[in-house]
Amino acid sequence: MLSANLPTPEQRTVVVIGAGPAGAIAATLLKRRGHDVLVLERQRFPRFSIGESLLSHCLDFVEEAGMLEAVQAAGFQPKNGAAFAWGERYTDFDFRDKFTEGHGWTFQVQRADFDKLLADQAALQGVEIRYEEEIVAADFSSAQPALSVRRSDGSQYQVQCRFVLDASGYGRVLPRLLDLEAPSNFPVRQALFTHVEDRIQDPAFDRDKILITTHPDLRDVWFWTIPFSQGRCSLGVVADATRYQGRPADLDACLRQFIEETPNLTRLFQHAQWDTPVRSLGGYSANVKSLHGPGFALLGNAAEFLDPVFSSGVTIAMRSASMAAGLLHRELQGEAVDWQAEFAVPLKRGVDTFRAYVEGWYDGSFQDVIYHQGSSPDIRRMISSILAGYAWDTRNPYVAEPQRRLRVLAELCATA
Ligand code: FAD
Repeated sequence: MLSANLPTPEQRTVVVIGAGPAGAIAATLLKRRGHDVLVLERQRFPRFSIGESLLSHCLDFVEEAGMLEAVQAAGFQPKNGAAFAWGERYTDFDFRDKFTEGHGWTFQVQRADFDKLLADQAALQGVEIRYEEEIVAADFSSAQPALSVRRSDGSQYQVQCRFVLDASGYGRVLPRLLDLEAPSNFPVRQALFTHVEDRIQDPAFDRDKILITTHPDLRDVWFWTIPFSQGRCSLGVVADATRYQGRPADLDACLRQFIEETPNLTRLFQHAQWDTPVRSLGGYSANVKSLHGPGFALLGNAAEFLDPVFSSGVTIAMRSASMAAGLLHRELQGEAVDWQAEFAVPLKRGVDTFRAYVEGWYDGSFQDVIYHQGSSPDIRRMISSILAGYAWDTRNPYVAEPQRRLRVLAELCATA
């Protein structure tokens, strides 16, 4: 409930909750179409966030928001694909060689810098962003949604608007306040991660690709190696609760133990300088009952988060932002918009493509395909498209029918 006894609410057209990638892109796209937008962000930027390996498709939305030049000029590590390693097996997918047209490259970014850059670009284009202001309550019972905002000094005010875009990420503001949360189908997994000065000397190591390594004995445990510019790297492991049993409680010791069990990573990081505390994040997979309702829509992680294995999070966040901004623009101009048919259903199509391959990763079938040496170049191009984020291109048979195609392909690879 909103607090009584507060001054008359501030009146705005659109309020965006959160200034992460989804919020910055959505707010900018609306501002570029001439709408009044206020972004309320509870933290001060730069702030840490996980999710550092981008996909090519997300640059389409960065470009749409007029931010591509700034992102290109920022000195982030270029990325042109994804590599996979399991024991002696190694394979890579190059985004320049893929089925769907679109960018053949992207970046690997420290999110503190990347998110600040996007938010600053939004502000440069006229978006008003208020930092250290947190949404603490929401009232959708009248025609105009109203939000209660708490400033860092503890004082509060209310803002009323025509539409709220919730881009609050793991804050999941409206799902919590409007009882929209739904359980995820994925088991609870936990990630341990850090940044290191990597000092990688192996000339064969490709800094232009994320490296996903499967644990030698535990196929559902995997590691990310995300090289940044200036000799630094993000390094993390993902495993479910049972895989942490009997391991050191100390996060640093635990991550190092996982790495010591994995020869290619032990070799790669033998000279690394571990200079950043290891962090842990668990239970991040989440879902909602609905992606929209009267006066609001949910973007990015505020809606649904699958799994980090294919680095799809920022791309889904930006795609949802772009779709919602386009629809909201029409609605604000007086057109009728069917948010279920025009937002939820088409957005979910690509999310479900990723879901099929995430499930296939953990049950081993997609790993069989990835590590199989004899796949045809055409099939590899179709898979490369999905790994580059083009999971909505239904001309790609592996997008149009992900489960069936993956099952058939996995069977072929297993018998080959
Ligand atoms: P966020 O980036 O989380 O931004 C939300 C913002 O809302 C935050 O700044 C927060 O402070 C603000 N906020 C929250 N609550 C409130 C409130 N009450 N009031 C005001 N503001 C509020 N994705 C990738 O693309 N590539 C990867 O390599 C990748 N790796 C990952 C690894 C792990 C272990 C995990 C868990 C996720 C990974 N992801 C990755 C996913 C990625 O982190 C998210 O999908 C992405 O950050 C979502 O962006 P967003 O804009 O929706 O939310």
